Parts: sequence; C-alpha cells; structure tokens
Amino acid sequence: MAIFEVLENADASKTIRLKSPVDMSAIGEFTVTTPEQVKAAVVKAKKAQIAWAALSYQQRAEHLARLQKVLLDSTDEIMATIAKDSGKADMECIAEVIGACDATQYYAKHAGKMLKDTSKRPHLFFGMKKLVRTYKPKGVVGIITPWNFPFATTIVPTVQALMAGNAVVVKPSEVTPFSGQLLAELVKRAGIPDGIVQVLLGDGSTGAALCEAGVDKIHFTGSVRTGKIVGEVCARQLISATLELGGKDPAIVCADADLDRAVKGVANGALFNTGQVCASTERIYVVEAVYDEFIKGLVAEVKSLRQNSGDADVSCMIWDKQLTMIETQIKDATDKGAQVLAGGQRQQGRDGLFLEPTILVNVDHTMLIMTDETFGPVLPVMKVANEEEAILMANDSPYGLSGSVWTADNKRGLQMAKQLDSGGCGVNEFGGNVYGCHEGSFGGSKESGLGYVNGEIGLKSFCKVQHILIHKFGPKNEGNWFPYEVKTVEDMKKFLKFMFGTAIGRWLS
Ligand code: ADP
Repeated sequence: MAIFEVLENADASKTIRLKSPVDMSAIGEFTVTTPEQVKAAVVKAKKAQIAWAALSYQQRAEHLARLQKVLLDSTDEIMATIAKDSGKADMECIAEVIGACDATQYYAKHAGKMLKDTSKRPHLFFGMKKLVRTYKPKGVVGIITPWNFPFATTIVPTVQALMAGNAVVVKPSEVTPFSGQLLAELVKRAGIPDGIVQVLLGDGSTGAALCEAGVDKIHFTGSVRTGKIVGEVCARQLISATLELGGKDPAIVCADADLDRAVKGVANGALFNTGQVCASTERIYVVEAVYDEFIKGLVAEVKSLRQNSGDADVSCMIWDKQLTMIETQIKDATDKGAQVLAGGQRQQGRDGLFLEPTILVNVDHTMLIMTDETFGPVLPVMKVANEEEAILMANDSPYGLSGSVWTADNKRGLQMAKQLDSGGCGVNEFGGNVYGCHEGSFGGSKESGLGYVNGEIGLKSFCKVQHILIHKFGPKNEGNWFPYEVKTVEDMKKFLKFMFGTAIGRWLS
C-alpha cells in the first residue's frame, strides 16, 4: 500500500493525500503548488529580500534569536509534526529539534564574523593598494529538501541563507510536507518579515519549477538521479547549485579496534533514523582477525533493539517506495549467497513500513546491497584480510560521502581516513556526525554531490563574493598606463627579470 496518492482535480490542479508510515492511517492532504504560483513566490521573495539584505548581521541575528525561542517553545509541536510525517522514534524527533536550534544559534552568533570584509595588501604592489573582499547575498535561494530529516534539512540551510542576507523559497518533500509547512508557521510566529521565508508544498514538478523561477541559487538535498537534473538545469542558467546527494558509506573495523565501541558505533551509524540517512553506514568491512567476535557482538546488539515508533530504538521506513527497493536488494543478495543473521523481513502482523534491522554476511561487490544506496536498516558485513584490502573495497564505489574507521590508534585511523575518497569521515566515530559539526562542512566526493553544506564554506555558498581593489598612493600615471613607450617596455623587462629572476624579487612577490 502506497503512503501517498495523487488526485487530479477538475481545475487541473493536483492534490496529494498522505498516509502515516506507522499504520497507514490518513494524516492529511495538500494541493501541489503550480509553476505560476512558484514564480509569484519568487517575485515576492525578491521584493522582500531588499530590506532584509539592508539589515546588519546583528539585526538578522535578533530575528533568528526570536525564531530560536519559538523553536524552544514549540518543541513538542515540532516533534509531533515530524512524527506525523515520518513515524520516527522520539529520540530522532528531538535530534531534529536540537539540530535546528543549534544551527539557528550557531549562525546567528558566528555568521557576522565569518562573512565580514577582509582586507589584504596585494603582492607586487608593495602596499600601494588594498584588496577588499566582501560577501553579499545571492538574492533568493531555492531550498529543495528530502523526506528523511523533514524539519532539520529544511531549517538548517534556511538559517544560513537568511544570515547571509537572502530570502528563501523552500520546497519540502511531498512525502513529508507537514514539517516544512510548520517551519513557515514558526517563522511567522517569530515575526520574520513576510516574504523572507516561503514554503511551497508540492512534488517534483514544483521543485523543477522552482529551479527555473528566477532564483539565484538552489540548495538541493536528495537523490543522485534528481540532483543531476537539478545541477544541469542550474548550470544552463549559470546559477549555482549545492547538491547534497546520496552515499554508500563504509565502516572499517581494524584488528586493534575497541570492539565494544565499534559494535555499538557501527550499529548506531547504520540504524540511526532507521538507516534513512545519506551518510548512514551501509557497508562494513571487518578485518579477519576480529571478524567472528565483531559479528557475535553486532548480532547481539541489533537483536536487542526495540522497533516501533515513539519510545523505541529503530522505527519504520518513511516511504513504501524505498522499502520495496530495499527488499529487492536483500533478495538480490540472498539469491547470490548472502546469509541473513538478523531481520531480513518486514515486522509481521502490522500495516506500517517496519523492516526489521537486518544483518547480512557473505556479501560481496557483485550484490546491489554493496554497490547501490540502500537508505534503510541493513548492515551488510564483509570479511577482509587486512586494513589495506578494506580501504580498496571502501573506495570501490561510485559514492564518496562519508565513512568511519574503528581502531585503537587514532593516528593510524586519521591516516586511513585520509585514504578514503570521501567528503567526510569519522575515526572511532560515526562520520555522519560531521553534518552537525558546524566548525567543519559537509559534502560529498564522486556521485555524492557538489559543494558543501554548513560551516564557513557552506555559509559562504549563499553569498556572492566581490573583490574591490583600492589605490592608496603612488604616481599619477602608473607605469603600464598610456602612452606606451619603448622605454617603458624596457623598464618592464628589467622589472620582469628582477621580480621573477632574483632571490630578493621572488621574496618580495
Ligand atoms: P526521493 O525520490 O528520495 O524523494 P528526490 O531526489 O527525487 O528523492 O527528491 C528530493 C526532493 O527533490 C523532493 O523535494 C522532490 O519533490 C524534489 N524533486 C523531485 N524531482 C525534482 C526535479 N526534477 N527538480 C527539482 N526538484 C525535484
């Protein structure tokens, strides 16, 4: 049974009717925003953005402080809405609220410092000039979000774009629209001016319309397939796109690993949010010497987890489409010889989308479960001879989002992490936690995306950079201005030789 149904209305509009993934009960419906409405929203955002961009960082931070207060006051309401959209465990609903509050506070506090003008003395000009770099808002940013973290993926880029002086138009996933809709309501309660944050409910057609509605940047989080389409559409218009896409993150368990921590960390990295995380642990390579002990611990850990929505460890899949796809991957693996040590099927006797946490062994890279993104509660574990083989296997993937290395030796862990072709990594730590570490930035290599989200690099991606060269002192007519003279060319030759052909010249430049 599908969790959403599209109804074609008599006036050619579409209504999407949604069911809860917990028990398939009806949870609500919404009308899909049309391309004309998207265009009108972008026009409204452009008008509102002018006054917003004129505010100081301090003034924008005051708006965000009010938003953060609203978030705190509305914690239960936000958690209930995320749960309605996704059926998540309570712990994972509160994690989204904490992530939202943290990002709101972090960028309110630090964006002004990160984006302040810098001034440098350019080389060659010996202090006669000054180069100023300034960050200006892009204008209107389109934010297109997925269904796995329906609140956090919506608000976290929004607060960064706002602090940088932009207006945003958000298009939440059609699978989990109510969390995005709530953000619009919370922004209103916080008194953020009308038009600065607009949330448009809709499906892929609304997202596609937003990409072509005159926005100045698209911040996209979602699948590789759609990300490539969005990237192409943006490139054609010469607008920038940050693409935060999928992953197939490896965990490497070394011979010297603290196995208790490795078992718990790997299980958490794979099953957090029921595995519906772009940086989820999706392939586990365990060195032969500790393989049996690791597997014993992992099976005990996974079998001890309580599966339900609400007060539970692991919950349901959010979308039936994904669940069906994972079942295909599990079948493909078992058909090719994989063995199921835990789970492997839907929880019996219930209507919701509950796939039991599943451990697969005897897996290899001929199986979809080791090559394609799974985005669900599955832990395929592969035995490898040593750490070198583990790194080779880990890099044998079209994805490169994150990963983790589990070893008693942090120095060696760091060296191994650097050998992974990925945008992030953890050492004795879930690599996906880099997302919440705003001192860094989060992004993928290979098919996992383009650009970075969060941190100083992510924040600056919401800005246009302008460089201004200011003349401070010097001759009224600089040596390379008109009129050109034979003598000037001769002087230039001397200058060339001195500057690039002598030790003192090289030092000066
Ligand atoms: P999934 O299939 O897992 O939802 P998608 O990448 O298709 O992943 O969806 C992520 C977001 O992108 C959703 O909000 C979706 O509505 C939106 N989307 C889908 N198709 C397009 C498109 N062609 N252009 C822009 N956004 C799209």
